[in-house]
Amino acid sequence: MPRNRILLSSPHMGGNEKKYIKEAFKTNWIAPVGNNVNEFERQVRDFTGTKAACAVSSGTGAIHLALDLLGVGKDDIVFCSSLTFVASANPILYLGGRPVFIDSERDTWNMSPEILEQALEFYKMHEKLPKAVIVVNLYGQSAKMDRIVEICNRYAVSVIEDAAESLGAVYQGKMSGTFGRFGVYSFNGNKIITTSGGGMIISDEEMMIRKALEKATQSKEAAAHYQHETVGYNYRLSNICAGIGRGQMEVIEDRIRQKRAIYEQYVYGLGDVDGIEFMPEAEGSFHTRWLTAMTIDPDRLGVTAGEVVEYLNENDIEARPVWKPLHLQPLFIGYDYFCEGQDQSRYLFENGICLPSDTKMTVEEISRVIRLIRKRIRVDKVIA
Ligand SMILES: *Cc1c(COP(=O)(O)O)cnc(C)c1O
Repeated sequence: MPRNRILLSSPHMGGNEKKYIKEAFKTNWIAPVGNNVNEFERQVRDFTGTKAACAVSSGTGAIHLALDLLGVGKDDIVFCSSLTFVASANPILYLGGRPVFIDSERDTWNMSPEILEQALEFYKMHEKLPKAVIVVNLYGQSAKMDRIVEICNRYAVSVIEDAAESLGAVYQGKMSGTFGRFGVYSFNGNKIITTSGGGMIISDEEMMIRKALEKATQSKEAAAHYQHETVGYNYRLSNICAGIGRGQMEVIEDRIRQKRAIYEQYVYGLGDVDGIEFMPEAEGSFHTRWLTAMTIDPDRLGVTAGEVVEYLNENDIEARPVWKPLHLQPLFIGYDYFCEGQDQSRYLFENGICLPSDTKMTVEEISRVIRLIRKRIRVDKVIA
């Protein structure tokens, strides 16, 4: 890797991670049980205000568990946001289910409640309501969960909140991840906090999280010989990784502040450019700005988002397009997609850029990113 490459979002230790890992070593609690796992779960419960949490080895695993607990099986329909990372929908396929993708709206970039309702109405008419709706909270911002939950309740469909990217975001006074029947967090290396790899499934239904824990540990019935009545997985988080998580939870507020400050600097340096639009912070929403994302209008600026991303990468700066919508991915060809008028998730993919949002970046490094963007789009007045 070239020296001084500026990264999109990379692990940033708080300081106490090693202490908790050492504790695990000293006491020989190296297995996926122990004090670090318990404490890490407690911290996430306290931080989000949820009743129950189960730490697992990945966010993908947590979504898989949630779908399994809701009884998703062969040929069952599951709705999912289209504008997301593939991990949101892969677990539907693990269970033999059929994903149906829902378009985003422009003011949150997340699932449109209106289009969700139309899709539910369509499937109700065909007497095949989904078993679950997976709502993704993109780049650090909640979807309009109040409306989405209200609509899903009317159709008696359970909501799984994929909050892998939005730990710490708030919507109408409530933590992102706590609106659905299940919430899912990821602690992959690129997320706002990391355990090197890990995830968590949360819920206010304590019985359901007890079941999630059983499923995550091979569904053993109470018997010395290990009796098994339902399918299980090996998904528990290791006590070592949970030690990293404990240290990270101590600095999550700092990380959110830093992410938001990075965003503010980008707005200061690029906000005057006609044709650049930052991902909005919707009304009633507290956006963590896990990643600063923006769109570029190629008609006004004479340059495409792809060209800007390429130019930054040539200059050792990691920038990326916005997620390629799942309804455009070859993996999901043939599954239904609901949108209305302009395909918003396609628009955001074709014109969107995720800027480096690494909390270890210096102010000077962010200024360099801004200067290069201004140079590429040929806006001469540099105010960064
Ligand atoms: C990262 C991510 C996941 C998957 O989490 P892992 O811990 O990497 O398995 C799921 N959904 C979204 C939206 C993500 O960004």
